[in-house]
Amino acid sequence: MRVGIGHDTHRLEPDRPLWIGGIEIPADCGAVGHSDADVLLHAVTDALLGAGGLGDIGRWFPDSDPRFAGADSSRFVVTVREELDQRGWKVVNLDVIVFAEAPRLAPFERTIRERLAELLQTEIARINFKAKTGEGVGPIGRGEAISATAAVLIDTDSRVEAP
Ligand code: MG
Repeated sequence: MRVGIGHDTHRLEPDRPLWIGGIEIPADCGAVGHSDADVLLHAVTDALLGAGGLGDIGRWFPDSDPRFAGADSSRFVVTVREELDQRGWKVVNLDVIVFAEAPRLAPFERTIRERLAELLQTEIARINFKAKTGEGVGPIGRGEAISATAAVLIDTDSRVEAP
């Protein structure tokens, strides 16, 4: 078994799309980034890379590379999941936290978990989602930024059992 963690932060600006976990969330502000700026998928990508001992997202998908301008971050997760597959690793479970003052993310929990399960080719029962605010303080609390943290456990194919 191996464990990986990932964390990411993006600045928020008005009148931009807000992508979280591969889902476009209706919001007044969206995240700024080279790709689609999906803070959660970036944290998940880094957690997967960490678990596999494969480095970090900046090495695999540099934000200086025009190929990734406006990219759907789902492809980052899928690429890394395929790399792990090839090495015989399968996701046991994924736990994530999104830190955002607004909007309220609880209504999107199920949809985001379904999308993450689809991207990781695993069961939704293996995916846990949590959302927290910044309690009105700091860059999260002031609505200037959005962050996400992810932790993933992987195991060799043969040893993964049903949840
Ligand atoms: Mg990012």
